Amino acid sequence: MNTIILDVRDPQYYDDAVVLVRSFFPRTEVIRPDEKENMPAVSAEETLTCVPVIRRLPASDALFVCPRLPDTLPGKDIENGAIPDKKIRHEAFKRALYLELSHFTGRTLPWGYLTGVRPSKIAFAMLEEGADRKQILGEFEKKHLCRDDKARLALTVAQRERQILKTRDFTDGYSLYIGIPFCPTTCLYCSFPSYPIAGHQTQVEPYLDALIQEMRASADIMRGKRLDTIYFGGGTPTALTASQLDRLLTSLEQIFPVGDALELTVEAGRPDSVTQEKMQTLKRHGVTRVSVNPQTMNDSTLALIGRRHSAAQVREAFHMARAAGFDNINMDMILGLPGEQEPEVQRTLREIEALSPESLTVHSLAIKRAAALNVQRILYRDLSLVNSDALVTLTHESAVRLGLSPYYMYRQKNMTGNFENVGFAKVGKECLYNILIMEEVQTIVACGAGAATKRVFPNGRIERAMNVKDIDSYIRRTDEMAERKRKLFSLSV
Ligand code: SF4
Repeated sequence: MNTIILDVRDPQYYDDAVVLVRSFFPRTEVIRPDEKENMPAVSAEETLTCVPVIRRLPASDALFVCPRLPDTLPGKDIENGAIPDKKIRHEAFKRALYLELSHFTGRTLPWGYLTGVRPSKIAFAMLEEGADRKQILGEFEKKHLCRDDKARLALTVAQRERQILKTRDFTDGYSLYIGIPFCPTTCLYCSFPSYPIAGHQTQVEPYLDALIQEMRASADIMRGKRLDTIYFGGGTPTALTASQLDRLLTSLEQIFPVGDALELTVEAGRPDSVTQEKMQTLKRHGVTRVSVNPQTMNDSTLALIGRRHSAAQVREAFHMARAAGFDNINMDMILGLPGEQEPEVQRTLREIEALSPESLTVHSLAIKRAAALNVQRILYRDLSLVNSDALVTLTHESAVRLGLSPYYMYRQKNMTGNFENVGFAKVGKECLYNILIMEEVQTIVACGAGAATKRVFPNGRIERAMNVKDIDSYIRRTDEMAERKRKLFSLSV
């Protein structure tokens, strides 16, 4: 099937419907009825009874989906004449549509109709409220229609997160994110703020000037607050030269109270950006954790996804990090990469096990709207992108052999197989920043192009200040980015 015509009568549910429909029919174009000519009308009877409609259109490869609307759903609140609150209405809508799609396809999804990004947050909140294991698993399995293994995963992660977050009152402090939007080349699935550095060399120094200016303004705004964690991401921070990294980290030390911070992570995600000198520079500046990401250890896949480095370079970069003295190295891998099945995943896991990182983050490929894999989807139509329970299980078994267990997780829209991203780590080697950002328990001050500052208020309310993504605009409008932050932090509690 190539096209799905999605007819959602009430626009407030359109996004819910798109996400669910795409979960059942990945890589299928979803359009509105007015985008298709000669659309067969829905029968009067169908409209009157509001029976959910899912049917194949005659003589075409299109599927017509017209979900029923929540106002027609049975429910206590509705029967009493009261309008149920927004969350209840959306959940009722998603549940009804999920059951219809499941009935139509004969399939269920691992996370049921949960479309939010943070399943562990549900378990975390319930634990905070005193719920027990049975109640939490029941919430996932009976209410959200999740599979029991996924419910248990969310609970396990939430329990470990709570254990870790007990060590300090994180609501008092803040974390700092610094974005470097440059990479050696652009990966096929990339949707981050990232530009190939070779073609953007003239922007790098002006970008660093602007970034340091924004860091100064941010430190002023946060003066008197405790800085708990620092994370350099992007892009690939190690795409900068050793002397640029040195300058940036020196500025960080001059501007922020880094002595209070419990961890300082730098993503060295692309092995083709790593040198011994850069690793030594990071170590000299007190970086505690680096991430060297293979995504796969199969050279043919690496070439296909545009990473332009080999598995051998991953091994070299990892050894450079070890030689520089890093005892907390993360590795990322992705399931569902083009053409990768069990043998390829097994090879990647064997190689990672041989290197023995302190943490492993397993992603399920998510095809975001801005990624080349989506924008040029016609080109990549014949590539198989498959994730499965068997592959996910292989990664969990590998993590166990490495002595790692799950400590944070999140989901994204349009993930192959509708699975999840899970971070596994040795005890004591978890990345606190990852937990803080997922559970939204702490303010994150973010600097750089495309960075998003998130202020978490004591009552849990969250407000954001977004930076512009385009590098030139960021350089020109740095004062404005600082002003946006200033406004955010002047909001009353
Ligand atoms: S390394 Fe990451 S940020 Fe850079 S291009 Fe690839 S996916 Fe994008």
